[in-house]
Amino acid sequence: MAEPSAPDTTYNSAKSFLLLAAIFSASACAIVYELLIGSTSAYFLGDSVEQFSITIGLFLASMGLGAWISRAVVDQLLERFIALELWLAAIGGFSVPILYFAYLYTDTFRYWMLLLIVTIGALVGLELPLLTRMLQKNGGLRTVLSNVLSIDYLGSLAAALLFPYLLLPLLGAFNTSLTAGLLNVAVGLVLLVAFWSQLVRGPRMRLLALGIVVTSALGLSLVTADPIRERLESSLYTDQIVYSEQSPYQQIVLTQWQDETRLYLDRHLQFSSADEYRYHESLVHPAMTLADQAQRVLIIGGGDGLSAREILRHGDVERVDLVDLDQAITDLARRDLRLTSLNANALSRTEVRIFNEDGFTFLERSQEAYGVIIIDLPDPRDEALSKLYSVEAYRLCARHLSPGGVLVTQATSPYYARTSFWSIAATMTESGLHVIPYHTLVPSFGEWGFVVGSKSQRRPAELTFDVPGLRYITTELFRQMQTFPADMSRPEQVVVNRLDRPVLARQYREDWSRW
Ligand code: SAM
Repeated sequence: MAEPSAPDTTYNSAKSFLLLAAIFSASACAIVYELLIGSTSAYFLGDSVEQFSITIGLFLASMGLGAWISRAVVDQLLERFIALELWLAAIGGFSVPILYFAYLYTDTFRYWMLLLIVTIGALVGLELPLLTRMLQKNGGLRTVLSNVLSIDYLGSLAAALLFPYLLLPLLGAFNTSLTAGLLNVAVGLVLLVAFWSQLVRGPRMRLLALGIVVTSALGLSLVTADPIRERLESSLYTDQIVYSEQSPYQQIVLTQWQDETRLYLDRHLQFSSADEYRYHESLVHPAMTLADQAQRVLIIGGGDGLSAREILRHGDVERVDLVDLDQAITDLARRDLRLTSLNANALSRTEVRIFNEDGFTFLERSQEAYGVIIIDLPDPRDEALSKLYSVEAYRLCARHLSPGGVLVTQATSPYYARTSFWSIAATMTESGLHVIPYHTLVPSFGEWGFVVGSKSQRRPAELTFDVPGLRYITTELFRQMQTFPADMSRPEQVVVNRLDRPVLARQYREDWSRW
């Protein structure tokens, strides 16, 4: 095929600037769409590492495909560039609503996810070569290429920074998607108006019609988005949603059915008010009672304040440091009446100090020593969470334990995720701790497991729980909790989870995928 000649048009500096601004916003929007697809897929399918790897890899490859296809475009470059902007706006803008519908009403979520990534990637990949060719006469290939590429990368950076800190927490995934689409279509329409006299008559009328249709569809959807999103979201939960918030870290949902409140993070149940006392008494009191002293206690996670409530039943506690990544959760636990009545206002007590930061970072930077450390985190379902279930994390914890100090972690279900449970115990042992695994039934979760660890051997058989207000744990019950029937006993193969070999998250997903 003959090499198409460069277009003869030279754009004045205002118009070249406009075209470069268009590439900035188009690349920013494209990155927002990809981040939305990655995070929505992680939200529905779990395993954020896998979803983001697929999204990024396929997006870049599709950009390559788009760039390759661009050789077939020989004329009407400006018209086609504007058309690309409009189609990108329509497809990217509706990407999150499409994924929600696909997840809720079809079995084809994965196909839609892949289709969206490839289409958006290919459209963006087509844009850059077209723009470079259009601007070729304005300063030569050397300058134009360097301008186009640097502005494109700058747009990506702007989006990558705005997405987690502003867009997602402020607008949520649904509205971010529609808003980015509207921005994208606005850019297309501005180009259409600015270059109106230079465009071929037939295509420019078609572009105007397409622009109006896409703007109206996105605008209308944005106005009606909240009720639609709420309806879609509520079909993900069995009970009525009474609170929903997208924080920079996770989707926080409270549901209510009669007098039962449930907290979900990223659709994973964290507690049910009906039986949370079983979980929290089992998590907290063995460690508090086994420790030589429990004046200073550290909680990693536990932002709902329910572990803190149990800790504060012990009269000798002087200070509780609670390290939870997400300020949205700790704020909610301090001000929401449903939560404050459950956690007995624990997070507003003078003994409690709240640190909103990553637990691992806190352990690395803090110099404090604690009599008891309680790890009350979500299950290790992804690599980010599983680092706090690693040999290195337990070694760091051990460094913060005073002599005679005790560490405990919730450790998922020894029944549904048997290998994962025993892997957590093996990982703690590998870090040099003496461990006592135990389990109990929490009806809303199923059979649930915990592992307590200490630097010197403890004698759990003699534990008496002399704590006011307990509803569940007793000496006799704790003794029984340490017995594992055959279907929950330690399997032959367990994995040790390390920072540089985070095998637990994969094991965990494999264990739960059987149910
Ligand atoms: N009982 C729960 C369960 O069964 O999964 C855990 C509940 S608690 C609400 C979990 C808390 O851990 C959340 O508030 C979340 O924000 C926090 N979290 C998650 N990752 C964290 C991290 N890396 N460092 C500190 N806190 C974290």
